This record gives sequence, C-alpha cells and structure tokens, in this order.
Amino acid sequence: MQTEARLPVDINVPSLQPPTPGIDTRLLRSELRQHEPMKQHVSWRAGGHAACFYQPADLEDLVVFLRLWPKDEPVVMIGLGSNLLVRDGGLPGVIIALHAKLNDLLLVEQDKDSGLIYVGAGVPCAKLARFASLHNLAGAEFLAGIPGTVGGALAMNAGCYGSETWERVERVKTIDRDGTLHERTPGDYRIGYRQVELHEAMPPDTSCGWFVGGWFRLRPGQQESSRQAVKALLGTRIKTQPLGFPSAGSVFRNPPGDYAARLVEQCDLKGFRIGDAMISTLHANFIINCGHATATEIETVINTAQAIVYKKTGIRLVTEVRIIGQHKGNEP
Ligand SMILES: Cc1cc2nc3c(=O)[nH]c(=O)nc-3n(C[C@H](O)[C@H](O)[C@H](O)COP(=O)(O)OP(=O)(O)OC[C@H]3O[C@@H](n4cnc5c(N)ncnc54)[C@H](O)[C@@H]3O)c2cc1C
Repeated sequence: MQTEARLPVDINVPSLQPPTPGIDTRLLRSELRQHEPMKQHVSWRAGGHAACFYQPADLEDLVVFLRLWPKDEPVVMIGLGSNLLVRDGGLPGVIIALHAKLNDLLLVEQDKDSGLIYVGAGVPCAKLARFASLHNLAGAEFLAGIPGTVGGALAMNAGCYGSETWERVERVKTIDRDGTLHERTPGDYRIGYRQVELHEAMPPDTSCGWFVGGWFRLRPGQQESSRQAVKALLGTRIKTQPLGFPSAGSVFRNPPGDYAARLVEQCDLKGFRIGDAMISTLHANFIINCGHATATEIETVINTAQAIVYKKTGIRLVTEVRIIGQHKGNEP
C-alpha cells in the first residue's frame, strides 16, 4: 500500500535572473513567462523553475519566437512533461511547451489499404489513438496508454505492448533553431528503444531535433475492435501501475533480455523512500511522488536504486526519464 502525503517540503528556490534576451515581445502572440514553476508542467509534480517559459499560440508564432530568441540562450522543447524531471535549481534559457498548441489532427488520405493522418506535435497521444479508431484505422491503439504528446512520443520513440511510435511514422515535420521548417523521413534518424537521434549533428540543445508534427500511416481496422483493444490496455494499466500518484511512468529502460522492474524488485527496493519520493509497491519501475517530493529526492531514489541494483546484479540501469536543469545551490 502506498502511503499518503507527509510533511510538505519547502522548495524555496531563489529567483533566477531573467536571461535578459532583449527580445521584442510585442511580436509574440503568447506570453513569455519568467521564473515558471515547472512542477506545474511535469507529471511528477516536482522540480524547479524555468528561467523563461513559452507556449506558442501556433506554428507561425513558434517560428517567430525562435527567430527572435537569442542564439546563445538554451532552448528545451517539451510536451506534457510525462517523462521529465527538472532539477530543483531550475533551468536557464527557455522551455517551449507545445501541449494543446500545434494541435492539427486530420485525415490526409484513406483507401482500402491504409490511411494517412497528419498530427501536430502538441496533440495528446490518446487523442491520436481515438481519432484513428473513429476513422476505422488500426495500429495506434497502444498510444492511448501514453500520457504525453505526439512530439514527446516522437522524441522518445514511446511504446508499449510490443508497438513503438516510429513503426507508424511515414515522415515528420521539424523546426530548427532559426525557425526553419523541414520534412524528414525515418531514414534521417537512428531509431531505437526509447531513443531517437538525427544522423546529422545537432546543436547541444537536442539530439533528435524538434518535432512540430508527423504523418502516421495506419492499416485499415474496425472502430469497435480498436475500442476493445484500448479498453483492455487501459484496464491492464489501472491494475499494474500506480496511476493515482504523480509519476513519470517507467524510470529505467529495460536492459536487454530483462526488465528493470524485475531487477529493482529483486533488490527489495519496492517501497524504498526518501522524503516523499518512493519506489511504488505496485510497479517497481515507477517512482511516485507521495505528496511534496522534491526533484532532489526523486533523483536520489533513482541514483540509489541504480547503485543497489548494480552492486547486487552487476547490471547498470539506464534512465528512460529525462533529467534536466541544475541542482539546488547551482542556480545560474
Ligand atoms: C503513468 C505513465 C505511464 C507511461 N507509460 C509509458 C509507456 O507505456 N510507454 C512509453 O514509452 N512511455 C510511457 N510514459 C512516459 C511518457 O508518457 C512518454 O515518454 C511520452 O512520450 C512523453 O511525452 P511528453 O509529451 O510528456 O514529453 P515530455 O516529457 O514533455 O518530454 C520528453 C522528452 O522529449 C522531448 N520532447 C518533447 N516534445 C518534443 C518535441 N516536440 N520535439 C523534440 N523533443 C521533444 C523533451 O525535450 C524531453 O527530452 C508514461 C508516463 C506516465 C506518467
């Protein structure tokens, strides 16, 4: 049984200095926010502040923003923050959140052999799954269980129950640091298990580039069988995952031929807790926030589990979650 919230922990992060980018915000159609608490934008509900935060009104506004934003200021693009931890010391530069923006979703073509859907990067994966099933297209059902955006799924090659995002991708639309748009195909990327990298070298901000949309090729299906598949999949998740607590899903990648959850459980780490960050007793690869966990507490649980699993099994677990920002005390 997971325990409920305990004492609140005061994060007390000192204000980051605005990066003084000196950009003319009158050209933007959304608010450029400063010192934004990222715990409001990540599913762990923990962590520090972003020096700046921008949620573009649409693709055109994103292009304008990237053209204005100084080239030496860091940029991180995010979706729903369901695979992300921002350290308590926060993050310089800007976080650009695409969730609920860039939300085009349309059936481009359909014939007896397949259908092609264009979907914006800010669309939740579950919405894409629903849309596909409504159009009698199969193959996107697994996305119903992934609580992130399509952009995040492309960046992570998200997957479950034997399917992965990029297996359905025909091409993607990307944007670069200058706001130039490109179309790319899967052949432009090294695609692996929870890993996507562009062959061509990218600036330090990202190794996969920034996705603004994608074309998904799906096979003909039946709305009712897709609905049943989604129902079964969500039912399994409710039984096997601690969905009542903030988390970021599986913390570690499965090592070849094994399961991270099995290894963590074998090391008696279920229920291991630091402050309000705890390894779930239901699913050993989930770390839940039992109330007011800090990013430091979550990261310490991650590091401790890694060290113990390595000591007992010789296997080095690698994180699937992305950890960004600086430790508290190292603010810029
Ligand atoms: C309860 C729960 C269950 C989960 N189950 C699964 C599962 O079954 N399978 C699975 O694979 N994952 C799972 N996850 C993890 C997570 O939902 C996925 O990794 C998802 O694809 C992340 O999408 P996001 O929009 O939240 O991305 P974010 O968490 O916002 O970002 C994740 C990474 O992608 C990058 N990124 C985000 N958007 C873009 C973009 N547009 N362009 C370029 N880079 C971008 C970010 O910079 C970051 O590095 C689960 C998470 C939770 C909380």
